[in-house]
Amino acid sequence: MTSAPSQTYDFASVEDCMQHLLRSIGENPDREGLADTPRRIAAMYEELFEGLGQDPVEALSVGFEESHDEMVILRDIPFYSMCEHHFLPFHGKAAVGYLPDGRIVGLSKIARALEIFARRPQVQERLTTQLAECVGDVLQARGVGVVIEAEHTCMTARGIKKPGSVMVTSVMRGLFRDDVNTRQEFLGLIRAQG
Ligand SMILES: [Zn+2]
Repeated sequence: MTSAPSQTYDFASVEDCMQHLLRSIGENPDREGLADTPRRIAAMYEELFEGLGQDPVEALSVGFEESHDEMVILRDIPFYSMCEHHFLPFHGKAAVGYLPDGRIVGLSKIARALEIFARRPQVQERLTTQLAECVGDVLQARGVGVVIEAEHTCMTARGIKKPGSVMVTSVMRGLFRDDVNTRQEFLGLIRAQG
């Protein structure tokens, strides 16, 4: 049986857990360097997981109408997220392309939606899918593509220990999936030198 999410951030409880964790790994949580660590981590997690209480649809819904029907591409959008399997960060950049059906939205709104999805316990595959589907749905785009490249510290700092290895995920919807020329145009443009 899985318990439902609590929906609110319990700062004091996270602080308690970190104190307990320090003791559990064989440390002394009362020594000088660690005395303030549970509080610092509780404050950090509150920021890193603030996306749990935020709505990416709302962030994107302030788009403006324009008679634009050519492909729009935003690339090199940086993000930081947290691998839900290891609770270690993964970070990289995202490229988002879409074929508008009249409705376009600014880079800052796409970046904000990405940040909301990223500031949750995540896996890169789901982050990519969620962003693509959210952008596609809210903008009612004729097609959308998202490519995310990221380095996972759970792969580079431990386990297989391959520093510099990058994981790439992509999700194509609508014409980006069904029309090979549209997909090639998108992939060519996100690879082009800026
Ligand atoms: Zn991991």
